[in-house]
Amino acid sequence: MANPKRRHSNTRSRLRRAHDHLVLRSMSQCPQCNAFILPHRVCTACGFYKGKLVKTIKAKSKENE
Ligand SMILES: [Zn+2]
Repeated sequence: MANPKRRHSNTRSRLRRAHDHLVLRSMSQCPQCNAFILPHRVCTACGFYKGKLVKTIKAKSKENE
């Protein structure tokens, strides 16, 4: 069985893991309600896409108006 010849130093492991972190998704703002939304997707807060109402959202649509 292949085994590592030498033990990794703590620094070597930590240098590798220095790049292991979560990255925030890029968000854009809805021109209709200014909520942060994923780009190229229908706004989950007001249901608008490209200035048109595509989907009616039940409870939260009353808060915007
Ligand atoms: Zn919106």
